[in-house]
Amino acid sequence: MGHAVLSPSGASRWMACTPSARLEESFPNTTSEAAEEGTVAHALGELLIKQKLKLLTKAQFNKLFKEIEADKYYSGSMYEYADEYATFVVEKFNAAKKHTSDAEIFVEQKIDLTQFIPEGFGTGDCFIVADRILDFTDYKHGKGVRVDAVNNKQMMIYALGAYIEFSILFEIETIRMTIYQPRIDNISTFEISVKELLKWAEEELKPRAQLAFDGKGNYVPGDHCRFCRAKALCKANANKQMKPITDSHYKNPDLMNKLDVAYIIKEGDTIVKWINSVKEFALAEALNGENFEGLKLVEGRSNRIYSNPDEVAKALIAAGYKEAIIYEKNLLGLTKMEKALGKKEMETIIGSLIIKPSGKPSLVDIADKRPEWNSAVSDFEGLFE
Ligand code: SF4
Repeated sequence: MGHAVLSPSGASRWMACTPSARLEESFPNTTSEAAEEGTVAHALGELLIKQKLKLLTKAQFNKLFKEIEADKYYSGSMYEYADEYATFVVEKFNAAKKHTSDAEIFVEQKIDLTQFIPEGFGTGDCFIVADRILDFTDYKHGKGVRVDAVNNKQMMIYALGAYIEFSILFEIETIRMTIYQPRIDNISTFEISVKELLKWAEEELKPRAQLAFDGKGNYVPGDHCRFCRAKALCKANANKQMKPITDSHYKNPDLMNKLDVAYIIKEGDTIVKWINSVKEFALAEALNGENFEGLKLVEGRSNRIYSNPDEVAKALIAAGYKEAIIYEKNLLGLTKMEKALGKKEMETIIGSLIIKPSGKPSLVDIADKRPEWNSAVSDFEGLFE
């Protein structure tokens, strides 16, 4: 199955900036290592759920598990996280069955979304239907971005598709959606009535999806641009990043004012990421023979390396150097150690030896969740009014 023009995972982008879906088509749809790792983790999660529900024989499980274990992205910690997810949904299913014997579970369920999104389809991780509730769990293996379930458009779309599918057989009044993101201990839940969900689907999703499919509407830059394949060349995004410095009512009108400074600090990381995406894009084009005014391709700086480390070690030992001199031993960093040992084992053995030193002060967006740092009062007479 190919990629949908309007994928549920991109919904928060194409609903906000409807022409982005078609603009993206001119750019290659590359996948990331994180996405590939996520696919393996999902396959493992599905397998472990089926094992716990006794839907597979031991031989079937072993065969499928071996295939996953051989994947380059598989690790002991992936097993632990996928197992936590599988336990989470199976426990929910067992609890539902205690109330209603006709509770049903659907794992990696293919969903048809065409009633609301042209050519739309997708796969939902796990649905449990019981007691007039459609309970949807979305397993997020990634840990880079904490995902919130509240008004999460991707989840609402999956839940909607599943509702349309299951409502033929079951009476459903409420949809419960849960993000399960074990690597950062994030479990986020959101409930919505079927009535509200259908209202949103008719009034917002459907018209926005049609506009997006037709490549119509206005370009609206925002946080969602970072996931847009057009971000490096999109003019609307560039205009947002290169916001002109404001007219300053200030002690010295030739200097930036505090608003400008705050803007640069708040948006700096985003601007740097955008500049890097432009650089990356231009480099790929230049390597393809494209010329850019005033730019040329050169070989980057490089450092000396051993052509064959094993041969180097052999030669040094043959020359009489001891291993203790030519090798250095380094303890694995926390992330690699957790991957090697698994989270629980690491906590048991060295949990009490892991500390978190206090961080250096840093100026961030006021919306940041961390508590405010108590700074000392300064008598410095500054530049600002
Ligand atoms: S980069 Fe942003 S503004 Fe431009 S098309 Fe993509 S989402 Fe829209």
